[in-house]
Amino acid sequence: MVLVFAEQREGTLKKVAFEAVLVGTAVARESKQADVAAAVIGSGVSGLAGELARFGVGRVFTVDDQTLGSYTPDGYAGALEQLCRQHRPTHVVLSATAMGKDLGATLAARLEAAILPDCIAVEFESGELVCTRPIYAGKALSRVKAPGADPLVLTVRPRSVAMQAETGSAGEVIRADVRPAELRSRVAEVVKLVTRTVELTEADIIVSGGRGMKGPENYAILEELASVINAAVGASRAAVDAGWRDHQFQVGQTGKVVAPTVYIACGISGAIQHLVGMMNSKCIVAINKDPEANIMKVADYAVVGDLFAVVPLLTEEFRKLKAA
Ligand SMILES: Cc1cc2nc3c(=O)[nH]c(=O)nc-3n(C[C@H](O)[C@H](O)[C@H](O)COP(=O)(O)OP(=O)(O)OC[C@H]3O[C@@H](n4cnc5c(N)ncnc54)[C@H](O)[C@@H]3O)c2cc1C
Repeated sequence: MVLVFAEQREGTLKKVAFEAVLVGTAVARESKQADVAAAVIGSGVSGLAGELARFGVGRVFTVDDQTLGSYTPDGYAGALEQLCRQHRPTHVVLSATAMGKDLGATLAARLEAAILPDCIAVEFESGELVCTRPIYAGKALSRVKAPGADPLVLTVRPRSVAMQAETGSAGEVIRADVRPAELRSRVAEVVKLVTRTVELTEADIIVSGGRGMKGPENYAILEELASVINAAVGASRAAVDAGWRDHQFQVGQTGKVVAPTVYIACGISGAIQHLVGMMNSKCIVAINKDPEANIMKVADYAVVGDLFAVVPLLTEEFRKLKAA
């Protein structure tokens, strides 16, 4: 059995959960495992199992307990560890999100299992699973395997697999027989930053602003563009360090790694630490007044100009197109 951890937030499955299921299904098929199962962990999450069951998952284990309302390593790893010990999966697949990275490493340590983190592709060669993962801040790709690992834990970078429609098959939903773990830490409160735009790692389009934005108030023009094209708003570290944007919006080596269909970089020079966070975007648009800026070298469309003139024009044109 291949077990997939299906990530949810506040009772909604994240897109990455379905991406992880697709990887899990491929691993199960290639390693001749009988089935792919999924684990949904949280509070009030039993209703989500049906969504996964329709996605080609043979069995969906739900662990629904009020102590699991917020993520804690003890609570989630405790539940997943018990499931693994009961059902002995050959592979456990998680998403390489903040939660998945933490949970995958904790689980692997508890099971004394091998872990291949942050994979962007999974293949089989002579019956052995080989994962591709970026190294040296994305400058090179390494192909790694863990011969004889049982189980093998792997985390999959968000948006590295193409989504597919649900299969229409109907898997079995099982309420897992798992004891709630003793929690050594509890989440006292979650304070949410209210944003009008889409979450960065799930967005199909990202409009990002750097030091060239000149100040926090000017992000209003990016937010306006983003609201017209249904995009998320990101930032470079220079903008975050200046206190213009919250760290959760930072793209790059020490921020989030994103791979949207379109990435629009405004007033960002394209330092390597920024590029590693966005260079897997399908189409890169750079707006910069310096034609020699590094970002222009990786851009599919390089617009040389003042962003304060170009961005409002773009917004206006997209508005017209949408109205047409
Ligand atoms: C260990 C480490 C980790 C790091 N991690 C990250 C990370 O995760 N993410 C990240 O982004 N950086 C990271 N950095 C910082 C990185 O090296 C750069 O300093 C940073 O990305 C620069 O941000 P920027 O492009 O916004 O600013 P700048 O390099 O100052 O570039 C500003 C750009 O705006 C252009 N510009 C100015 N005015 C306008 C205008 N009116 N119209 C159009 N263009 C204009 C300029 O021509 C210039 O190209 C890291 C650095 C280190 C050492």
